Amino acid sequence: MNASPDTPTCEIVTIGSELLLGQILDTNTGYLARKLGRLGVATRFRTSVGDRLEEIGQVIRSAVERCDMVITTGGLGPTLDDLTREAVARAAGVELELKEELIEQIEAYFARIGYRMPENNRRQAYVPAGSEVIHNPVGTAPCFVAEVDATPVICLPGVPRELSYLWDREIAPWIRERFGLSDQQVTYRVLKVVGLSESRVDALISDLMGVGKNPELGLLASSGEIKVRITATARGDTDADRLIRPVEEEIRSRLGNKIFGIDDETLEGVIDSLLLGKGMTLCILETFTAGLAAQRMYRIPATQLLDSRVIPDRERLLRLLEEPAWSVHAQSATSLAHKAKEMAQVDVALSILGFPENNEPSTGMQAVAAVVGDGFAKEFSWQMGGDFRAFQERGTVIGLNTLRLALLASA
Ligand code: ATP
Ligand code: MG
Repeated sequence: MNASPDTPTCEIVTIGSELLLGQILDTNTGYLARKLGRLGVATRFRTSVGDRLEEIGQVIRSAVERCDMVITTGGLGPTLDDLTREAVARAAGVELELKEELIEQIEAYFARIGYRMPENNRRQAYVPAGSEVIHNPVGTAPCFVAEVDATPVICLPGVPRELSYLWDREIAPWIRERFGLSDQQVTYRVLKVVGLSESRVDALISDLMGVGKNPELGLLASSGEIKVRITATARGDTDADRLIRPVEEEIRSRLGNKIFGIDDETLEGVIDSLLLGKGMTLCILETFTAGLAAQRMYRIPATQLLDSRVIPDRERLLRLLEEPAWSVHAQSATSLAHKAKEMAQVDVALSILGFPENNEPSTGMQAVAAVVGDGFAKEFSWQMGGDFRAFQERGTVIGLNTLRLALLASA
């Protein structure tokens, strides 16, 4: 987002030595950054620090100097290496103080799950003096907001499930209130595109883009998929929707069925829904994509993909086709799809066909995808440059997209 001068800024600090050792992946930062963006808070820095008192303190002190708020996750547990409370107290120049009501809360938590409170959980009832305590009914770690040089340091648990529970109920309202963000929020709509290059998409919609516009447009490309993000800043969902809708409609009129889905939708998810809606089952036969297309379909629980096969070399393929010789052309892909449909006894078959020339990918590669169903068929052939990994990724997306377009066109 483009932060205007009065947009509050935030530094996210994740605490835990496992993060620095690479033993766990930091998902909390991404989660918080997305949520903060929606509230209208600009994340300016993200820092990870191990379970070391002195270093956590250093990070907190520099964070309060450069941002309007600091959010930490982790290090609130009952053990000796959970140091967030102590480090924040030191940064604020205050002592830890015992909160009786927190002991009661922690005891109540253990009572609910049928245990007696272990003695070391008492440690969790201490927070930096003067902090505001935030009730955490989903875990033992009490959360708090301490003021360090008049900057709020919001200390939250490391466990992602606890974090998201507290965010929605306690933290987002707290931040809104404190920074006067009332009902202003940032809302996204992502349109997902396949079958066009990033520069082509850019050329088609660049006149709608421009810094400081509301809604604002952004493009993001990754392995054959382009995301067009429409970002609106507005008060409440209805106003955001009013801003986003006309821009979305304009983009849809220009990109048509190259847009396969929105927001969290995936190509495989859209294809599976189409198949399900038509009551059709699927089989996939792949060569150079080595099962990647099938793998994506298998991510869908109870997918309509009933059978899949990889044929990695030409010899086997010839035997299957019962042909003496062939080249990569649309006809072979279609007869392969027919074979696959017949063998697997499904309603639709997709074949993705091609072999890199002489194991020399730099020369580029010819590939074909074909779809065969009852009363409909589709072929698509293309030429690719790049390395083998890129061939596979793009072949997968183009193959699946050929299937999607065939299903859309079938009655
Ligand atoms: P607890 O009371 O459960 O100890 P805590 O606030 O002390 O909570 P940590 O001990 O630092 O949190 O982390 C608990 C668990 O939460 C970790 O083992 C890890 O699985 C998860 N976790 C911690 N930090 C992160 C993070 N940045 N991203 C994703 N998961 C995390
Ligand atoms: Mg812990």
